[in-house]
Amino acid sequence: MCDRLYELIDPDLIPENPYLLLTPGPLSTTKGVRSAMLKDWCTWDEDYNNVVQAIRTELVSIGSKTNDYTAVLMQGSGTFSVESALQTLMPDDGHTLLVLANGAYGERMASIAEYASIPVIKQTALEMKTFCLESLEQTLQEHPSITTVAVVHCETTTGVINPIEAIGKIVKKYDKLFIVDAMSSFGGIPIDMDALDIDVLISSANKCIQGVPGFGFMLFKKKVIRQCKGNARSLSLDAYDQWEVMEKGHGKWRFTSPTHVVHAFSEALIELTLEGGVEKRNARYRANQLLLVEGMEALGFECVVERSLQSPIITSFYSPKESHYNFEIFYANLKEKGFVIYPGKVSNIDSFRIGTIGDVYPEDIVRLLDAVKEAIFW
Ligand SMILES: *Cc1c(COP(=O)(O)O)cnc(C)c1O
Repeated sequence: MCDRLYELIDPDLIPENPYLLLTPGPLSTTKGVRSAMLKDWCTWDEDYNNVVQAIRTELVSIGSKTNDYTAVLMQGSGTFSVESALQTLMPDDGHTLLVLANGAYGERMASIAEYASIPVIKQTALEMKTFCLESLEQTLQEHPSITTVAVVHCETTTGVINPIEAIGKIVKKYDKLFIVDAMSSFGGIPIDMDALDIDVLISSANKCIQGVPGFGFMLFKKKVIRQCKGNARSLSLDAYDQWEVMEKGHGKWRFTSPTHVVHAFSEALIELTLEGGVEKRNARYRANQLLLVEGMEALGFECVVERSLQSPIITSFYSPKESHYNFEIFYANLKEKGFVIYPGKVSNIDSFRIGTIGDVYPEDIVRLLDAVKEAIFW
C-alpha cells in the first residue's frame, strides 16, 4: 500500500462539491483525495520519486500477480496514454494494427494509428453490440501483416462491456500482441492480466481508481516494452523513454509531472485498498448501476444496451419520446438538484448517459432517482 507523506486534513475543513458528477470521469472524488492536493511538492526529490514508485508497484499488483509487468505513467489525459502506447508498440516497418471498434473510443484508436501512419485495419460492430468472434478470426487469417490487436474493454460511448477474455483467446491463438484500453474499467472491474495475457493495458488517473485528471498509465509486459526502443514517432509520448527514465531514476518523470495529481492518486490508491480492493469497489458500482436501472425503468425509461452487455460503469438511456423533452432542460434541472449527468454519444439514437462510478453510493442513486422524478417535466 502507498504511504502518506502528510497528515490528512480534517474533512470538515474541505469544501463540499457543488454537485455529484455522474459522468465517466472526471468524477466525484473523496475529500481525502482532494485534500492531498493542498500542498506543493517537488517533482524530482526522493520523497516524491518514492511516491511514484509505490504507485507503479501498486498499479501492477492490481492487474497482475506475477513479476511480468511494469507501469509507465504519462502526463496528459487518457488519450495521450493510448497514443503513447500505440506509437511505442508499433514499429515503423509495415506491422499492421487491427482495431476493434464499437464506439467512439475504438474509433479514436484507429484515428491515432492513422495520424502516426501506422497501417491499421478496423473491424467494427454496432455500438449497442459487441464483436463477431468468427469475423475476428477470419480477419486475422486473411491479414498476416497484423501483429497487434487493440480493443476497448468498457466502451464508455454506450456502457457496453466487450468480452476481452474471448477476444484475447483468439488474439493469442494467432500469436498477436493484445492491447486493452481499460480506461473506464481498470480498478472498477477485476482484470486478470496474467490469464488474459495482455501485452499493454491502458487507463488513467480520473476513472475507477478515483483520482483527478492529469495523467494516464500503461501496464506493459516487461519483455514487450524492452523491444520498443525507438518506435515512437513523438518525443513526449515515447513510453519506452519515459519507462527507461522512471526505471533508472527510481520514479523520475522525464518532464514536469503533475505533482498534485500524483499525490491525489496515491491517496486514491490507499482508499481503494481501504475499501477492500477492486472486488469490493466493483460490488459497489454494480449495486449503484442495478439500483439506477431498476429505478429508471420504474419511471418509464429504457436502457439502450441489453443487460448481458451492460457494464456497471455507465448506462445509456433512450431519451423520452415526448416532444417537449429537451436534454438541456433536463440536465439543468438535475444539476440544480445536485447531479450532473452526461449527454448521449450513440450515433443515430437520441439518448443520455448516467455514470455510476466515483465516490458515489447507492444512497446517492436513491436521491438521484427522486431528483429525476421531480425533473420529469414533460
Ligand atoms: C475516458 C476514456 C478514454 C480517454 O479519454 P480522455 O478524455 O483522453 O481522458 C479512452 N478510452 C475510454 C474507453 C475512456 O472511457
